[in-house]
Amino acid sequence: MPTSPLTLPPRRRIAFVFPIYNEEGNIDLLHRTVAEVTAPLADRYDFSFLYIDDGSRDTSLEKLTELSRRDERVTVIELSRNFGHQMAVTAGLDLVDADATVIMDSDLQDPPRVALELIERWEEGYDVVYAQRRSRQDSAFKKFTAGAFYWFLRKMAAVDIPKNTGDFRLIDRKVVDELRKYRERDRFLRGLVSYIGFRQTAVLFDRDKRHAGVTGYPLRKMLRFAADGILGFSVTPLRMISRLGYLISALSFVGVLYVIGVKLFAPATAVPGWAFITIAMFFLGGIQIIMLGVLGSYIGRTYSQVQNRPLYGVASVRTGLASDARVAS
Ligand code: UDP
Ligand code: MG
Repeated sequence: MPTSPLTLPPRRRIAFVFPIYNEEGNIDLLHRTVAEVTAPLADRYDFSFLYIDDGSRDTSLEKLTELSRRDERVTVIELSRNFGHQMAVTAGLDLVDADATVIMDSDLQDPPRVALELIERWEEGYDVVYAQRRSRQDSAFKKFTAGAFYWFLRKMAAVDIPKNTGDFRLIDRKVVDELRKYRERDRFLRGLVSYIGFRQTAVLFDRDKRHAGVTGYPLRKMLRFAADGILGFSVTPLRMISRLGYLISALSFVGVLYVIGVKLFAPATAVPGWAFITIAMFFLGGIQIIMLGVLGSYIGRTYSQVQNRPLYGVASVRTGLASDARVAS
C-alpha cells in the first residue's frame, strides 16, 4: 500500500454489513464477489466487511471464521442466538466504524456491483442512498405479499417509506450515529431511516434470485415484520377504533329509527326481533374482539419497551487474521 503524502485527504472508510442466517452456500461466493467488485476502488477507500452470524444452525459460522482468517478486513460477530434480520443489522450498525456503511442481504439477491453506484451517489453528497428494486425475481406469492405490504404500509404509516426498497442501502456515519440512538425493540429499520431524514436518494436496480439456501422470512415472520412497520410508524389502527365506534353508533341509530317508523306507520307489522339482535350481537362481538386485539398490540409493544432489555446478545467477535474469539463485554 503506498504511503499517502500529507497533501492527500485521508482515505475514507467504507464498511459492508452482512446479516447471516443459514447462508453456508452463499458466504464464499458473496465475499469473493464483494471483494472483486470493490477491488478497483481499493486505492481510494479502506474497505471492511462485518458479518453478523444471527444464530445460524448450519456451518455458516465456521465458514465465516475461516473467512476472517484469510482476509484481515473481515470481522465476524456471533450473536448468542437467532434474533432476526433486523436485530442482526442493528448489531452491525452498533459495532461498525466507517464513514459510510453499506447494508446488504447475504444471499446475493442484492447484487454487490450496485454498491458501487451507492458509493458514487454518496460522493455526490447524499447521506442515505437506498437501492430501489426496479424488478424482482421472487415467487408470485412473495411478489404479491410484498406488493400488498408496501401498499398498505404507505397508506398507514406516518412517515414516507419509499416503496420497493429493502434494507439494501448506503448510510453515512452521521445517519449511523443517529440510528444508534433509537433503541426500540420492534425494529423496522427502513422506517427509522426515513424517519431520521438527512439527504436521501434512490438508485434503481434489478433484484436477483436467492443464490442458494431458503428464505429466512417465512410468512409468519413476514406478517410480524409488516406489523412492526405499521404499528411502529402510525397510530392509524388506534384511530380506526374510534371511527368504527362512531360508524356503529350511527348504524344502530338508523335501526332505532326503523323500529320507531314501523311502530308509528305500520303498527300491524311485527318487528323481526331475533334476526336483528343476533346479527348485531355477532357484528359487535367481532368488532370488539378485533379492537381488543389492536389495543393489545400497542400494549404489548409498550410492555416490551418498558422491560428495556438489551436488544441482542453478542457471543464472540472475531477480527480478521485473529484465530481466537474474543467475547465482547
Ligand atoms: N437473516 C437474518 N436472520 C434471520 C433471517 C434472515 O440475519 O432470522 C438474513 C439472511 O441471512 C439474509 C437477509 O437476512 O442475509 C435477508 O433474508 P432472506 O433472504 O431470507 O429474506 P428474503 O430475501 O426472502 O425476504
Ligand atoms: Mg433473500
